[in-house]
Amino acid sequence: AVVVGRRVKSRRKWRRVVGLLRELQENCETTVGRLKQVVDAMAVEMHAGLASEGGSKLKMLLTFVDNLPNGSEKGTYYALDLGGTNVRVLRVQLGGRMSSILDKDVERQPIPQDLMTSTSEDLFDFIASLLKEFIEREGDSPESLLDRRRELGFTFSFPVKQLSVSSGILIKWTKGFAIRDMVGKEVAGCLEQAVTRKGLNMRVAVLVNDSVGTLALGHYHDADTVAAVIIGTGTNACYLERIDAIIKCQGLLTTSGGMVVNMEWGNFWSSHLPRSSYDIDLDADSPNPNDQGFEKMISGMYLGDIVRRVILRMSEETDIFGPVSSKLLVPFILGTPLLAKMHEDDSPELTEVGRILREKLEIPDAPLKVRKLVVKVCDVVTRRAARLAAAGIAGILKKIGRDGSGGITGGRSRSDNRMRRTVVAIEGGLYTSYTMFREYLHEALTEILGEEIAQHVILKVTEDGSGIGAALLAASHSRVQLL
Ligand code: BGC
Ligand code: MG
Repeated sequence: AVVVGRRVKSRRKWRRVVGLLRELQENCETTVGRLKQVVDAMAVEMHAGLASEGGSKLKMLLTFVDNLPNGSEKGTYYALDLGGTNVRVLRVQLGGRMSSILDKDVERQPIPQDLMTSTSEDLFDFIASLLKEFIEREGDSPESLLDRRRELGFTFSFPVKQLSVSSGILIKWTKGFAIRDMVGKEVAGCLEQAVTRKGLNMRVAVLVNDSVGTLALGHYHDADTVAAVIIGTGTNACYLERIDAIIKCQGLLTTSGGMVVNMEWGNFWSSHLPRSSYDIDLDADSPNPNDQGFEKMISGMYLGDIVRRVILRMSEETDIFGPVSSKLLVPFILGTPLLAKMHEDDSPELTEVGRILREKLEIPDAPLKVRKLVVKVCDVVTRRAARLAAAGIAGILKKIGRDGSGGITGGRSRSDNRMRRTVVAIEGGLYTSYTMFREYLHEALTEILGEEIAQHVILKVTEDGSGIGAALLAASHSRVQLL
């Protein structure tokens, strides 16, 4: 009787677990039909964000970048890339002919956790010290630090209201940053002041979003590049828009007739987005509730934590994971790199999954059946993320008439009816280092666009784009006259 009782109990708890998994799957459903609704919503919100300030949750920020690097840039330029996780300093030597980068030197450092929630002065002093050390290593004597003025491209990967191509005000923080005194401040000025305090002579030639840097490098190498997407700690996209389509800045003229628009798509929202109770809880517990809704379903900062929440719930409602591990209660303990490792574990016994559960979450001896369940959860969360990112990309293509629907902007040229080659530059760890994510994204893009159109759309990884791209833009916007 004891054995039978146990079996009944076991069957009941698995029924509960399967129920929770089903519910998750249903709430994360991304059929092509639904993705197409997201595509349409994205294009509609893009229009609304361009029409008026505050017209949409999509901010569609002006960048004042009206020309993209074309390969003729020349000279030595610096870049500082402040992202979500790391800060990088770069020196790039440009050859001036046919997109030749003669030399580059990159130094990368993780941003200390406490600086992300400290004061703006602490953060910028830290960055300025890095810059100074980097430049000192060039072999200049300390005196000469002052005489030669260096031109810098500053990549600042947060929403900024640009005042010009080289200055702008921080609108809000994202990705776990919360330096209160910084919101509303002019970003380039903060850096210049900190750099001056260190005795360096440097000018911020351009202040750009990382997506814009990525677009710049993409375009430098391939002139068919029209948009850029970041899927890393955070997510975002930018693209080249016709100036007359940017209704909210009527009267503004650019020599090229276009301008790069920073969409800040992380904040995109639509009722068509598939949402689970875990997303709702994650949002409510975050420092920025109701903000960055799209980002919270897609980017590296959040995916692991959605999975943690699902496992926690399953563990609380049944004992398949043993007694509830206190580690499961720790927010962000399961980073996305670990999620990727579990998801991509192809050993028959799922030993990597077992190891991560044991070492990271203190869940020892999870049987194979439970490890398989964990992989399934990773799959559902990652697949939804990748497919939503694909819908976002298709939304941009739709807006600029490159989705094959022959929008008024003329995706097809009149003389022949073929789709133009369209390149989207892409960067960020989820896309570059997570094979399953990348494959799901490609698959969804093809489903949405159809094979024929999809073959003209090329996603191209730009290495170090957010940094090198800023150096390129510094070069094309530099005030230094080259002899
Ligand atoms: C920021 C964007 C940035 C993206 C990728 C988001 O959280 O709001 O400005 O481009 O992360 O780094
Ligand atoms: Mg980055």
